[in-house]
Order: sequence, then structure tokens, then C-alpha cells
Amino acid sequence: MKKRPFVAGNWKMNMTVPMTRAWFEEWLRLSPGPEDAEMVVCPPYTSLWEAARRSTGTGIWLGAQNLYWEEAGAFTGEVSGPMLADAGCRYVIIGHSERRQYFGETEATVQKRIAAAIRAGLRPIVCVGETLPQREAGQTLEVIQAQLEGGLSGFTGETIGGFIFAYEPVWAIGTGRTATPEQAQEVHQAVRGRLAQKIGKPAAGCVIILYGGSVKPSNAYDLFRKPDIDGFLVGGASLEAAPFAEIVKESIRAYYKEVN
Ligand code: PEP
Repeated sequence: MKKRPFVAGNWKMNMTVPMTRAWFEEWLRLSPGPEDAEMVVCPPYTSLWEAARRSTGTGIWLGAQNLYWEEAGAFTGEVSGPMLADAGCRYVIIGHSERRQYFGETEATVQKRIAAAIRAGLRPIVCVGETLPQREAGQTLEVIQAQLEGGLSGFTGETIGGFIFAYEPVWAIGTGRTATPEQAQEVHQAVRGRLAQKIGKPAAGCVIILYGGSVKPSNAYDLFRKPDIDGFLVGGASLEAAPFAEIVKESIRAYYKEVN
């Protein structure tokens, strides 16, 4: 059954405190309404506090873009799960391709971060995705399965049921090049199929699987119509409230088309 859309914005290393304030002021003017979608923004750490203050009553939940796996101590420059929960986060992105590409993220560190997120009461948004050479070599599903195994091993079915997955083909991130709804659906279906083997079909059916990679208002509707696409992780188009709100609205429109 089609789930209510889940749309998360990843602001990456953008948005100062005044920009965050302006974003929420604009959001309030647009007011898409929280009833029909789960909406999340993931600001940089420095804007979390302001976003927490401004998001109250807007229907938007907060997420972080990463976390460290220890809770406190001599780890200069790191931020822990309890600190993020304290700052108002409910979600945390883990294993984004930019972290894998530029900061040495591996399956082992992804796994430690997921465990830390769970301990802190945060829901992990676990990212997987293939590069262009991997896709061109016909290795997409193999790569995704390997990343999934890394993320899943060591966790029980009950815990995995609370994970959110984001399929983000690396070649589509920030490039303006989106996976077609068919390409995305193929991978989402494979992810859900693997989850079904691990935690059973009914539980796998409830897991939220997002698509990310140059999502914009013009392609959100067609992508969301696909049965295994439950929402989006949006980068560039989440930096302004208006296109983000449009993506939410297009997802809701596609959702009602499916359920009615
Ligand atoms: C992302 O970084 O998670 C992302 C999907 O970026 P963009 O929407 O800009 O492609």
C-alpha cells in the first residue's frame, strides 16, 4: 500500500543562521500543511538550533547530516547522537555518497553510526547508490546489495523496520540528471526485496525508501507514482522553501492519485 509521502531536505554545507530564519519565514507564507506528508530538513550543525526554534508548529521535523558514534569525550570536531537529539533532531542522514567519497565513510563506519543513532533515539536515513561507471558496467544492483548488507548486518528485524533508506545514484546527485522513474523503481524494488528476505514481507512493506538525485517539482510526481518510492531526499531544491514546498505538494498529489 502506498504510504504518505516522506520528503527530507539535505541542506549540506549551506545556510547560515539568517538564511535559515528566512527559509522558515518563507515556509510559513507558503504553508503547505503537515497533515499529508512527513517533512524534514537537515541543516548544518550551526543552524540546527535556529531551525529547531523556527520549525515549531510548522510541521517540519529536523534531521542532521551525520553523527559520530561515541557519545562524548575527546573527539575534536565531532558531534554525537545525544547532542543531536538534544538540539531537536529526530532523524540523521548516514552514509551519504559525499561522506563516502570525501570523508572515507565505509560500511563499517556506516554501521557504527547507525548503531549510535538508534542508541540516541534518532531514526537513521541510510543512503546507498552506485556511481556512473558502476551503472554502465551493469553493477548497480550488486553495489546496492553490498552497501545494504553493510548497513543491515548486526541489526535485528525490529530495529531495521525503523530505518529509512535513501537510494541516491551518485551520477544524479547535484548534476541535474535524474534517474527515470523506471530506473529508480527497479532499485527500490530490489532494496525492498532484500529487506523482505531479512525481516519478512509485511515489515519490509512498511519501510520507507526514498529516492534522491536532482529531485525537483517537475519530476516528483512521476517518481512518486512508482509503487516502491515513498518519498525523496532533496539536496539543491531544498535550499529555498518554495521548490521544496512544491515537491511536497507534488508528492501529495501523486499519493492521492494512487490511493483514491
Ligand atoms: C543529496 O545530496 O542528497 C541530493 C539528492 O542532492 P540533489 O537533490 O541536489 O541532487
